[in-house]
Order: sequence, then structure tokens, then C-alpha cells
Amino acid sequence: MSSGNLASVLHGIEDLRLEQRPLLEPDPHEVSVAIRSVGICGSDVHYYRHGRIGDFIVTAPLILGHESSGVIRAVGREVRSLTVGQRVTIEPGVPCSRCIQCRRGQYNLCPDVRFLATPPIDGALTQYVDASFAHPLPDTLSFDSGALIEPLSVGIWANRKAGTTVGSRVLITGAGPIGVLAAQVSRAAGAAYVAIVDVNPERLRQATSLGIDEAIDAKASPDLESLHADIAIECSGAETATATVISALRPGGRAVLVGMSASPQVKIPVAVMQARELTVTATFRYANTYPEAISLAASGQVKLEEMVGLRVPLEQAQQALTAGATHPEVLKAIVRVSED
Ligand SMILES: [Zn+2]
Ligand SMILES: [Zn+2]
Repeated sequence: MSSGNLASVLHGIEDLRLEQRPLLEPDPHEVSVAIRSVGICGSDVHYYRHGRIGDFIVTAPLILGHESSGVIRAVGREVRSLTVGQRVTIEPGVPCSRCIQCRRGQYNLCPDVRFLATPPIDGALTQYVDASFAHPLPDTLSFDSGALIEPLSVGIWANRKAGTTVGSRVLITGAGPIGVLAAQVSRAAGAAYVAIVDVNPERLRQATSLGIDEAIDAKASPDLESLHADIAIECSGAETATATVISALRPGGRAVLVGMSASPQVKIPVAVMQARELTVTATFRYANTYPEAISLAASGQVKLEEMVGLRVPLEQAQQALTAGATHPEVLKAIVRVSED
């Protein structure tokens, strides 16, 4: 093993360079993880193509990737629960643990959270990452699945906010990775019926093959109100989808807005919300989801491996970041940082 730490570093728009970074020993409460798999997320693609997401701007070289798994290489001297050689998945957001949100357990809302691959914090497209939150990965789960525990957490959090339960009727908009994962979690939570809406026929086909009850083509102007959904989870970020799903809910229903819209202001149908006493809420990342996400994946109730359509080595990370354009059928691209 070399003493270097080879990383794929974003220097500017579409300017990715392989560089050696120093390999440091982990802080007392951290572990050093030899990264195996990194899932590419929409946010990584956004930084790669535009150099920013809203107020988050890449002003200095940045390592992308926040969905990762690997093997512990070294442990800090205060770490008791993890050992060298253990397989783990890394929870990428490390909160301050002192503010009021942290103390309430709402640590995803910590204003001082340090999140991998969110400027100025480097991400996981590198051989070694120091992690505060590393969760053991069962041997039955692959490293690729381990990387996808992160987006699965987003799907779990959305369903918790929605109150999905036995018999729920769930309508999801957007059949990208988050929508498909949210739909699988709805099924696992006992939903009687889960429908997913998208404009992309290939994505709809994949959603069906992952066991989602109904995949609906948004272009065919479907009558979504006739589905009598109790719960709507908006994962597309498409501006019109928000109003559409809210208007499709049955009286007393609940909508959760997960997809991030390009525009800061989106119209919502307040009169419908009043007439039907709807609840509309939103999510920001997740909190306290990793153990449940790992259990769900390990039990086979959520299929992760099947979502991966492209695997490339670290040297070709760019291919994973451009897969959306070159391979639109790929639901999830993975960078295999290391294979051994
Ligand atoms: Zn992500
Ligand atoms: Zn905090």
C-alpha cells in the first residue's frame, strides 16, 4: 500500500484531475476508510457541470462524492466500536452536536454540519477518507449497495415525514434514484399501493422491474386524483409536479417535497390544501436513518444492486459524472475507487 491518497479533484467546470493528496492519520474519534465504491448523485453532477448549486459555490479545488463505502484502514485512539478491516458505509454529514437542532436529534438541520462534497468539505472520490460516522456493513451487502445506503436514507426520511404505514396509497413523482428508493421504502413500510410518475419511459420500465406497483407516463396526462393517494412524495424537482401531486391527494392527505427545484419559488395550490386540509412538508437530507437503511437493504426488501447501471474506476470518474447525458438509461453510476 502506498502512503499517498490518490484523489479525483474538481478544479473548475468539467475539469477533473487525478492528484496525490497526503494520507493523514485519523483524529481521535474518526476512522480512516479505504474507499471501495462511491455513488454519483445529482449534486455531484451539478458541481461538475455548473461549479455550484444555489449558494454552494466551488471556489477552491473540491473532491466530489458523498455516497460511499469501504474498509477501515486505521482507527483513532478514542474509537471503541469499530476495528481495522471492518466493512463500513459512511454517513457523510457530521453535525456540531452542540446546537439546539443537534440536541433535539434533528442533526440534519445543524447550521454547522460538515457534509462530504459540499464546499469547502472534500468528498469520497479518493482512496482514503476520515469518517466520524461509519456504520458497519453486513457481509451480505456489496460495497456498491453500501454506497447507496446514503440515497436510501433520503427515501426513508421522506417516508417517515409522510407517515407511510400499512395500507397507505402512495404517489411518487420522479423515477430517478431518489424516487425509486422512496417507492421501495413505501412498499417495505406496508403501503398497499405505490405509483410512480415520470416522463422517461426507460425510467418507468426500470421502476416496474424494481417491483413498484404502477409506473405512470406523465406525458399521457393521467388522472392522478383517481388514485386516491393518502401520501404524495415529490422527487422530481419539476416545478409543475409539486402542484400536481398536491392536487391529486385525497382529503386529509400529506405531501412531502424532496426534489429540489431550480427556481427558489414554486406555486402551490393553497385553495386545494385548505378545502382538503392537506399537510405539505419538505425534507433536508435525513437524520437517524443509517441503521434502518442497512437493515432494509440487508433484508432484501429494498433492491440497491439492481439500480446500478454503470461502474467505472477512479481514473474514469468523469464517465460516471457524465452518464446522465451519455447513458440516459443508467439509474445510478458507481465509481469503484478500489477493487482489492
Ligand atoms: Zn446523494
Ligand atoms: Zn449542531
